[in-house]
Amino acid sequence: MNPKNLILTLLFSHFIFYASAQEIIAHRGYWKTDGGAQNSIAALMKADAIEAYGSEVDIWLSSDGVPVVNHDADVTLNGKKLLVQETPAATLRQVKLANGEPLPTVEEYLDAFEKCRGTKLIIEFKTHKTKEREDELARKVIKMVHDRGLQNRVEYISFGVNFVNQVIKIDPNAPVYYLNGDLSPRVIKAMGASGIDYHHNVLKKNPHWVKESHNLGLKVNVWTVNSADDINKMIDLHVDFITTDEPLLTRELIDKRK
Ligand code: MG
Repeated sequence: MNPKNLILTLLFSHFIFYASAQEIIAHRGYWKTDGGAQNSIAALMKADAIEAYGSEVDIWLSSDGVPVVNHDADVTLNGKKLLVQETPAATLRQVKLANGEPLPTVEEYLDAFEKCRGTKLIIEFKTHKTKEREDELARKVIKMVHDRGLQNRVEYISFGVNFVNQVIKIDPNAPVYYLNGDLSPRVIKAMGASGIDYHHNVLKKNPHWVKESHNLGLKVNVWTVNSADDINKMIDLHVDFITTDEPLLTRELIDKRK
């Protein structure tokens, strides 16, 4: 091989290496630790401490229009179930997470995120009862992110097509991924989204969607991949991101391939 070809080959293999190494997203933060809790500020800081590519978080709009952090549609307060979107923020603040933190507002979460060194924040917009409420949540949160100058460190995901469309409309430069698993990469491309973020069973059924996405210039994220067997299967499929409750195990398995 002449020197020029050798250099090209080395550059190309280098590119392939980086193109095929998966990035890790800590699902609801890195919460499986002492003092951890899903969607807590502690879990966000721990995702940053282990240098995860991203830390995922679920958000809602309270009844009085405050963006708040929670996974489920409801919370339990004093033995009573309350729907997050029908409860004012001051009441939601009384809810304690498993590690004793009060349920955070998105402003508080972003205060903490500003102190993170490298992790990105992957914000999941939960689907609400009306389009108006969803639009209000998207508008408010994207404005908060921009007001803080954090737009290059935040990505968005949602099961709701409306949210994906809102992000594209309000912040066309923001990465946004669709979660629901029912749309082909071609449709996602036509919507203008950045890629698919599907359950691992969806990708097992439709493994060709990974290559199809890449050919269309889309990225592929997959959730929530926790067993070594599933993590290995997703590495084999050459997805770009793995969303997991087991970020350290995932890193170990990715590193084994290097
Ligand atoms: Mg989520």
